[in-house]
Amino acid sequence: MSKAHFGLIGLGVMGENLVLNAERNGFTSVVYNRTYSKTDAFLKSRAQGKSIIGSTDLVDFVGKLERPRRILMMVKAGSSTDAVINQIAPYLEEGDLLIDGGNSQFLDTERRVSDLESKSFGYIGMGVSGGSKGALEGPSMMPGGTKSSYKHVESLLRKMAAQVEDGPCVTYIGPGGSGHFVKTVHNGIEYGIEQILAEAYDLMKRVGGLNGSQIADVFSSWNETEELSSYLVEITASCLRVKDPNDGQDLVEKIMDKAGQKGTGLWTVVSALELGASVPTIYASLNARVLSSMKSQRVHAESILRGPNRINFDMGKLDNGMSLLKDAVILSTIASYAQGMELMRIASNEYDYKLHMPSIAQIWKGGCIIRSTLLKRIQNAFDSDPQLSNLLVDPWFATQVNSRLNGLAKVVSGAAASGIPVPCFASTLDYINSYRSSRLPQNLVQAMRDCFGSHTYERVDMEGSFHTEWDQ
Ligand code: NAP
Repeated sequence: MSKAHFGLIGLGVMGENLVLNAERNGFTSVVYNRTYSKTDAFLKSRAQGKSIIGSTDLVDFVGKLERPRRILMMVKAGSSTDAVINQIAPYLEEGDLLIDGGNSQFLDTERRVSDLESKSFGYIGMGVSGGSKGALEGPSMMPGGTKSSYKHVESLLRKMAAQVEDGPCVTYIGPGGSGHFVKTVHNGIEYGIEQILAEAYDLMKRVGGLNGSQIADVFSSWNETEELSSYLVEITASCLRVKDPNDGQDLVEKIMDKAGQKGTGLWTVVSALELGASVPTIYASLNARVLSSMKSQRVHAESILRGPNRINFDMGKLDNGMSLLKDAVILSTIASYAQGMELMRIASNEYDYKLHMPSIAQIWKGGCIIRSTLLKRIQNAFDSDPQLSNLLVDPWFATQVNSRLNGLAKVVSGAAASGIPVPCFASTLDYINSYRSSRLPQNLVQAMRDCFGSHTYERVDMEGSFHTEWDQ
């Protein structure tokens, strides 16, 4: 029997769908899962009649693969990934390639790339986005590692990926852990946009008095526009239309208002802090999830702490698509992308990843959770100026800021006066107002630091480093 082209370890929701995708694209496959009953169930159900065979152990698994082997691991990130690598490494031979498609921490990937490559195996750390549907139909994939290793799986990945007008949604990202770093930032941007859409829903419900179907109609109308057409806006509308079969009420209103935050959102913010990148909209979305998880404390506090009385502030007319609220959503979404791209630019310099921003925007245009028409504009912006310091100053995005900042400010001030939290909208407003200010009050901060700690300061009117005895 001829050997299989491709091997997959880990038959979770992602692994099952990715191997079906590979097989559909002409790559005969062999699968292994720690718990064999899952392999058995898969072979007897979704894999039946397909060119997919199973293995009960890793020796048999590697023996069924053509050389050099191409093996994709889709297992839980962290120690599980290390465990799988340690179990399979003794059976690999020179030139074989392991791909980690899980949501691994990029520094773990750096370590694994250098460990494995020193043993003459190839190792790719690859971010995969698109959820189970994307994995089956075509995800966006962000592979990093040595270029020669990538070349070994390029044809497979290009066939498996989502396809957009200018090609497949996969490209070589860069060396080491760069693929997983880019996936991490992708997820950070995703956190931001999800929270922005939740804030818009909350205002439409609490201030506008709209029900789920009416709010869904607004999101659907936004989804028809260039600025907001996206997968996340589309599914927001879908979620808001679903009724509870028990009583016909909006099902979202029955969902506990607690959101978890997994590794990638946290890692985006930690990396940004370490690298000195400003990502306040993304951070606000992470913090919103953290605060949401404190449900019992919030319930208790609501009976003690009082906010201002609700006012009916202007969010724009319903038949005009709530234009001011739409301004707030557009600018906050742009800010999430701008902050993520800025973080990647800084990381690219720090880690020498040589990230190519237009290509990253290109592979996010299809398959992934943050796919949107805005990414075409982002791709164009970095194509026309590869050294672009921040998306906000690109001519098209600057026009958006200049025409919509007033709307964002009105929504934030109305929400603040009503005591309704809008962390991403408010952070975005401060971010843009700070970024567009040539003079900020950090001169006084510098004076204080010099006063208590002799940290010295620079002056705007002469060169050098200065110290003053401030409290004499
Ligand atoms: P998952 O629940 O994260 O992982 C399940 C798989 O990991 C199972 O095959 C399980 O084997 C295996 N596993 C766990 N610990 C193991 C160990 N110590 N040794 C060997 N195998 C072990 O599944 P998933 O949702 O399909 O995700 C797979 C990876 O893709 C994760 O890293 C995840 O973060 C990432 N990812 C997920 C999504 C998504 O939408 N779900 C999207 C992008 C990326 P058993 O069956 O034996 O327990």
